[in-house]
Amino acid sequence: MVRATYRFREHTLTPAPDDEPTSSALACKGCGEASEPSTDATDGTAWAADHLKANPGHLTYREIITRSYRFKPGAWQ
Ligand SMILES: [Zn+2]
Repeated sequence: MVRATYRFREHTLTPAPDDEPTSSALACKGCGEASEPSTDATDGTAWAADHLKANPGHLTYREIITRSYRFKPGAWQ
């Protein structure tokens, strides 16, 4: 019988905007179309305003945020 011992290390998950900048996009809930992700949140609202002009019935949207995270290794247990 093989017995193995595993050691675990504490890790802390923290936002890592240096790995990938945080970006957001707006998506229309009516048809699923979405703006390009942008680091400037106002880009999405401008896209939604244009989308509403082109599609007068499309009144509901959701914001999709992409935020990078990274585990930072800590002490061995
Ligand atoms: Zn739409």
